[in-house]
Parts: sequence; structure tokens; C-alpha cells
Amino acid sequence: MTSLHPLIGSGYKGNPNHTGGKLSCHCKDAPVEITLSSDVAFNHACGCSKCWKPANALFSVVGVVSREKLAVTANPSKLDIVDRSASIQRNACKDCGVHLFGRIEVDHPFKGLDFVHTELSQGAGKDGWQEPQFAGFVSSIIEQGFNPDKMPEVRSEFKRAGLESYDCLSPALMDLIAVFTAKKAGTFKSKV
Ligand SMILES: [Zn+2]
Ligand SMILES: [Zn+2]
Repeated sequence: MTSLHPLIGSGYKGNPNHTGGKLSCHCKDAPVEITLSSDVAFNHACGCSKCWKPANALFSVVGVVSREKLAVTANPSKLDIVDRSASIQRNACKDCGVHLFGRIEVDHPFKGLDFVHTELSQGAGKDGWQEPQFAGFVSSIIEQGFNPDKMPEVRSEFKRAGLESYDCLSPALMDLIAVFTAKKAGTFKSKV
């Protein structure tokens, strides 16, 4: 049976004072390791086709961290960018395929943030990292072959796990994108 993701519905709650840690790929031999010097933010389930997901999971769980809080601390030579034309450049291990971090180099609302998967931590993401906050791009799993008739089950499973489902991103993130767009258009007015 395919599950949404092992972290969803597990009842896990992160530690609000979590200060980061190490994430590593699945290689037994010489794993790539990154070290984060802060917790992640906006951790969420993502149904898009580009985020790395574990075997038998319909969704990835992905969060963000400031890029200056992320360092590659072991075996950087095994990293390669999955798709150089994508706005988020996903740096994956060439041997096991796990994505270590996604980085944005182009002009983009989320530039400066790196996308990471806390389940690559020793405790499979349960060792203090922020728990998933919502589910984004939920309808996108249909584009990857999921039966649309079963979408209500997927959304109610998220609901049971205490997570809202969105078909793009959460309102807070959509607002950030709109602020970025408004600033570029010159229509942004901060409240005074
Ligand atoms: Zn690897
Ligand atoms: Zn995604």
C-alpha cells in the first residue's frame, strides 16, 4: 500500500528550539552529508513531480533553510544537479539518487532559501526538526498517474493528520510570492 509519506500521520511534533543537524544521502559507502545550522521552516508535504520522495510514498516532505545555514560537509564530489533548467536546482547524489538540497540562482520569490528533506536526518526526520505544516501541490499527483477518483481519500487522510491540503502552496507562501511580484511590478504598498 502506498502511503502519503512516513512522516504524515505519525503524530510526530518537532522541537521548537531545534537548532539543526546533519542530513545524509542513502549511500552505505561514503554518503554525501550536509550540515544545517538551523531548523527548517515551511516544512510540508509536496505532490509535485520534481521533489525527491522516498520509495512507496506519494508525497515528498520538503522544508526550507537559508542558504547560508547550509554547508556540504562530506563527499561533495558525488553531487550533481538533476535539471539545470529548473528554477530550483536539485543537488542529488549521483550514486543513490537522493536529493540533498535544492538551490535557486535565478530571480525568484524564494531565492536565498535552500529546499531540504529532514527525513535524511538520523532519526528519519523525527529528531527535533519541524513537523510537516501543510500539504502543497496535492492535485499534482494525478499528473504522475494517481487515480483522480481517490483524491478525496488523500485529502481526508491529510485532514486526519491535521494538515490542510492546497493545490499550490499555503496562503502564507502564496502571499510571499505575490509580494515579490508586486514589488517587481511597483504596485507593492507596505501597510503603514
Ligand atoms: Zn548517495
Ligand atoms: Zn515539490
